[in-house]
This record gives sequence, C-alpha cells and structure tokens, in this order.
Amino acid sequence: MGSMERDMEQCRTRKHTVVLVPPPLQGHMTPMLQLGSILYSKGFSIVVAHSEFRPPDPLNHPGFIFHALSDNLSGYQASINNLLDLISAINSNCRAPLQDYMVQLMEDQKLQGYQVSCMIYDALLFFVDSVSTHLKIPSIILRPNMAAYMLSCHCICKLQAENRIPFPESRLQEPVPELHPLRFKDLPYPITNAIPEWLMDFNASSINIRSSVATIWNTTDCLEHSTLSRLQQCYKVPCFPIGPLHKLEAAATATSFLEEDQSCISWLERQPPNSVIYISLGSIACINEQELTETAWGLANSGIPFIWVLRSDSIDGSQLDDHFPEGSFKSLLGERGLIFKWAPQKKVLAHRAVGGFWSHCGWNSTIESICEGVPMICRPHFADQIVNARYLTYEWKVGLEIENVVDRGSIEKSIRRLMVEVEGKEMRQRMLIMKDKLEAGLQKGGSSYESLNDLTEFITSVSSAAGQ
Ligand code: UDP
Repeated sequence: MGSMERDMEQCRTRKHTVVLVPPPLQGHMTPMLQLGSILYSKGFSIVVAHSEFRPPDPLNHPGFIFHALSDNLSGYQASINNLLDLISAINSNCRAPLQDYMVQLMEDQKLQGYQVSCMIYDALLFFVDSVSTHLKIPSIILRPNMAAYMLSCHCICKLQAENRIPFPESRLQEPVPELHPLRFKDLPYPITNAIPEWLMDFNASSINIRSSVATIWNTTDCLEHSTLSRLQQCYKVPCFPIGPLHKLEAAATATSFLEEDQSCISWLERQPPNSVIYISLGSIACINEQELTETAWGLANSGIPFIWVLRSDSIDGSQLDDHFPEGSFKSLLGERGLIFKWAPQKKVLAHRAVGGFWSHCGWNSTIESICEGVPMICRPHFADQIVNARYLTYEWKVGLEIENVVDRGSIEKSIRRLMVEVEGKEMRQRMLIMKDKLEAGLQKGGSSYESLNDLTEFITSVSSAAGQ
C-alpha cells in the first residue's frame, strides 16, 4: 500500500469528518490549518475546501484531504487595495462549487459508513453558512482575531445606527464606553469621515454568526475573559477560546504561502541574547517610500542588529530592489542587518538572540510574540491591528507605539528604548509573565486545554444530534 492509500485508509477509519473552509490570506489560512492539525490529532478526519486562488500546500498535511473550489480568479493580482474584492469574489463564486462538493462528499461518506460532523469556516467566508444550512450540516466559525476586535466592530455598527459617524476629531481621545482600554481613535475603521456603505455591510456581516452553532477563537481566557463572556452572552452559542493554536504540538506544521528563508537562523546563532530586533509587517501591510527610507536610516543609526522582512510587495507601488540595490544600504550595514522576503517567523521569535519585534500587530504576530516573551514596537496599519496595538501598549504595557514613522530620529529613539533602555527591559519582564500564563492555559487543567477538550466533545455531539 502506497503512502497516499495508507492516508486515505487512515481517513476512512476516522469516523467523524470535519470540513474546513479557509480564505487565501496567510493570517487566516495559518490558524485554520493549525486547527485542522489539532483536530486530526484528536481523531477527526480533515477535509480542506479552499479556493483555487493561492491554495495551501497539501504536502505539509499528508493526512488531510484537499479540495480546490473553482473560483474564477485565475490571473487575479491580490494587493492590499483589493483584498475585500477578493473576499467578496470568493463569497460569490465558491458557493455553488462548495455545495456540489459537499453533496458528493456526504454521499461518499454515507456509503462508507462515516459522516461529515460539521463545517468550520473562517469568519470572512459568509457564503459557507448558506451551504451548511441548505445541507443541514452544523457549522462553526473560526475567528482568527482577538475577541476584543469583534466588540470593536459591534461598536462601529452601533455608532452608525445612532448616526454618530462622522465622529468629531476633537473627541477621538475619549474612551469608548464599556470598551476599556479602547478610545474612539482605536476603533478598527476611521470614523471621522462617513464609512462607505459596502464597508459597513462587510462589518455587519463579519459580526453576524448566522446559524453557526459555536465560535472558535485563537485567543485565551486568561487574556480576554470578560470580552469572551460578553460575546458568549451576545451570541448565545458556545464559544471555545483554544489559543494560542501554534503552541499546541500537533499544530507545528508549515503553513506559509511564501518560502521561508531559513538562513537567518544560522546568523542569529552568532548574535548575543536579546540583541536583535526583528521587523515584519505580516503578509499584507505595505509602507510608502518615505517610511522605508526613514526606517532604514533609523535602523542603521540605532546600532542595533536586525532582521527585516520586506516582501516583494511591501512597498507601495514600487519594487524592493529599486530601493536597496546591491552596494548601497545593504553593504553599509555589513553583517549587522539582514533583509529577507519571508522569514520563519515563529523560529525567529523563539530564538534567544531576538530581543524585540517591530510589528504591524496582526493577531498571529502578536500572539506569537507574547508566546516567546518578546516585547514589541507597534506600528498598526488597519482593522484589528489598531485594537491589538492598544492592548499591547496601554493595557498589557509590553509594547511601545512609534511616535513618527517618517522621522529617522524618532525611529532610532524607539528602537533604542525597546532594545537597550530600562523601559524595554521592563516590557520584556511583563511579556515573560504573559508567556507563562499562556503556557499554563495550554497545560492539563488550563483554560485553553479544557476548552479544546470541550470543543472536540461538542463536535462529536453536534454531528450525532444532526443524525446524519
Ligand atoms: N509570517 C512568517 N514570516 C514572515 C512574516 C510573517 O511566517 O516573514 C507569518 C507570521 O508568523 C504570522 C503570519 O505570517 O503567522 C501573519 O499573520 P498576522 O495575523 O500577524 O498578520 P497578517 O498577515 O494577517 O496581516
């Protein structure tokens, strides 16, 4: 029996199948695949129904079954400016292909005496609900963000309903009632101008859980107890905070769309403890040419060794190599700084040489940094990043906000505050305390550990109740 046949055989011996539906965005695909690996380790069979556009690599998950949904997106050039168009196209184009596939899958499974327990879909893929409702399969939403982000989206809807948008600029510093520590300026969309109708619709859809029977969160009760309780009360379905997903042993599989350049690890081996700052803006955020230049000079002048991830599409409207031709900035730095297109981020953050993380504060990056006790410089760009940055800088006091991203002096000062001054050392201490709490939550008896056990029991029970 070949390895593929063996895997299929293994899937067949697993009684309950969970169908995962992720979008082709790195920060959403990663937690979905991690969840799949965890459920696989708990004995579920895993099917991943994904768009043809930017598919996951099946070789990283030999036990899963992958199915590409026709999406009419061939040749699509995704960028920061058309992300919501991409999501909207997938929501429209993948509905019928998903339904056809599910009908086929359910028939096949019935013949073999096993069943589809539930569909777990990313919060952006609203269309899955209509398929699961039509086929009477229970569905569960995976939210890859911090839970507080969801409450901030509720707040935007409320402000709009009360006709308070545009909101006065002079009141942006005021606290949002019942959303401590957020101020109006920390809400995920700018509210001083009217918010376009399509964006309001998107926001409203993203907080609607439709007929989902539960929600899963890549967060933890120890970070967000009161927010999670409020959401549970609001939605009246079970809520499973099981994060940080990437720290569960079963989830340690590769999930990157881009190839990770491993060569930075040998370079890190030669650096002293806590000496290196790691800079990355995740998979989507971009900077303009001025910010690029000022950051480069701020880094150079700080004297701090660094690893800087600049994707080929990180600079608004131009190619990276136009800015750093061989022989210029790079050679000026010599061995002190490395620039990569994509790094093995979790390994980098876990390395003893890394003492700080300059981040756009995407939730995956945030929770990965907390898990390694690495304090942060927060440079949020949009949406949940703004909420996450407020928690990091103000509530947990483990990150500092950069004052002016187009001033090399200010950048240099922020880097030194984090990396060499007492303030940064104190933030590192607080991060280490958070790291210990998160680790404890994953141990037997910890909140995430128990929540994951509850989730697996729940999935088994909903599928039996659905009586397929
Ligand atoms: N990441 C990585 N290598 C890089 C940059 C990012 O592996 O060079 C990973 C990072 O570990 C995280 C994900 O990409 O898991 C980015 O997700 P996040 O939520 O932080 O930001 P987004 O890309 O969604 O804005």
